Amino acid sequence: MNHEELWQAVLAQIQLNISQANFATWFKNTRILGEKEEEVIISVPNSFAKEWLENKYNKLIFKILHSLDEEIKGIKYEIGKTGLKVFKKSSLPILETDQLEFPEFKIDKETNLNPRYTFENFVVGPFNELPQAAAWAATKNPGLVYNPLFIYGGVGLGKTHLLQAIGNEIVKNFPKRRVKYIPCEKFTSGIINSIRNHSVESFKSKYRAIDILIIDDVQFLAGKEKTQEEFFHIFNALYEKNKQIILSSDRSPKAIPALAERLRSRFEGGMIADISLPDFETRIAILKTKAREKRVDFSDEVFSYIATKIRKNIRELEGALNRLIAHQKLKKQLPDIETTKKLLKKIIISPVKITTPKKIIQAVAGFYDLKERDLQNSSRKKEIVKPRQIAMYLLRETLKCSYPFIGRRFGGRDHTTAIHAHGKILKELEKDENLREEINLIRQRVLSV
Ligand code: ADP
Ligand code: MG
Repeated sequence: MNHEELWQAVLAQIQLNISQANFATWFKNTRILGEKEEEVIISVPNSFAKEWLENKYNKLIFKILHSLDEEIKGIKYEIGKTGLKVFKKSSLPILETDQLEFPEFKIDKETNLNPRYTFENFVVGPFNELPQAAAWAATKNPGLVYNPLFIYGGVGLGKTHLLQAIGNEIVKNFPKRRVKYIPCEKFTSGIINSIRNHSVESFKSKYRAIDILIIDDVQFLAGKEKTQEEFFHIFNALYEKNKQIILSSDRSPKAIPALAERLRSRFEGGMIADISLPDFETRIAILKTKAREKRVDFSDEVFSYIATKIRKNIRELEGALNRLIAHQKLKKQLPDIETTKKLLKKIIISPVKITTPKKIIQAVAGFYDLKERDLQNSSRKKEIVKPRQIAMYLLRETLKCSYPFIGRRFGGRDHTTAIHAHGKILKELEKDENLREEINLIRQRVLSV
């Protein structure tokens, strides 16, 4: 592997570990400049990126580099002169042959769609049959069959893939219709900006002109009252004109906290389909499809080893495969089962997960789309008080933390506050089914942070 290939292999792994936005921000225009005394020198476009990579991503980059080449003992970051574009096609034959592509650089500006996601490369099994069929039907008669179409399921199980595939297919079938895909967080910040700039009306009229509106991860609407209100009007305007609306979320409409009732009932008014977990056969089929896309093939034993070990997340299945591919490039030889086990050991046999107060607080903050410090400061806003109480409750229930400890952990509060919070949630749980579901989802999250 030359430097360029090595760096592409690293980027492919990093991309699976961090959000697309972070990836695009921090890894654009990076490359390997060279090696000096077992140190790899990475060129970065500016001092800001240098600082971020050094402080936030150094460990991850090093881990991956080292796993690809054990001789590498360290990394140095240097600010490059002109920031030679590492993603330039001509310098990257590897992209064409191996499809380790970087999708955000090919996104269509008008629709926001990434052509990488299609129905052709979306594997169907019992776990996603219904959402796939509903999605396919929506592409044949947009707006007329399932409206809205609401797809939900856990992380890395294909929601974004399916939503984008719908968009791409409709563009193909109905080239004149205006399709727009947008992650919910982007939509929300668009609304907030338009409020700030006094341009809400023009923002809304832009959205009202869309024929197929696809919003990904609508769980992020939770607690955002103003956004919900404006969205409600856009939703109605489109719905009345039989324009197709497609939404995804990591949970059912019922389980999205602080969602206005009228919006919830809108979400529930069309077709709701959930993606569950892929069974063994489907996991194999997915691995084989991905391998074919990347023009590699492994033995059945290797495929079935991966599929046995990784069960809950298709993104992780892909991650394992990418690791084998990187190895194969380096050694110019297909890994056998023993090598596979060795290579995947770090990903698969993750040490027994230990729950810590920090993880619980992170999970609660993540679930309610708050910052960790929101939970610890003294805000008395309703949308913060409840998550804070839930976090306190979980510290007590899961970790048996003492009340004084919990009080201290949440901005030096008194232990009576912790007792009160714990008791309050306990009591509410008796009668509030939604809260029970929320807390279950948070517990699942704790295990995955
Ligand atoms: P989510 O949005 O649910 O978190 P994604 O749609 O981003 O998940 O999927 C994660 C990765 O797994 C993507 O690379 C996607 O292409 C792949 N993937 C998910 N489901 C399938 C499937 N049924 N067939 C093929 N690839 C899939
Ligand atoms: Mg997604």
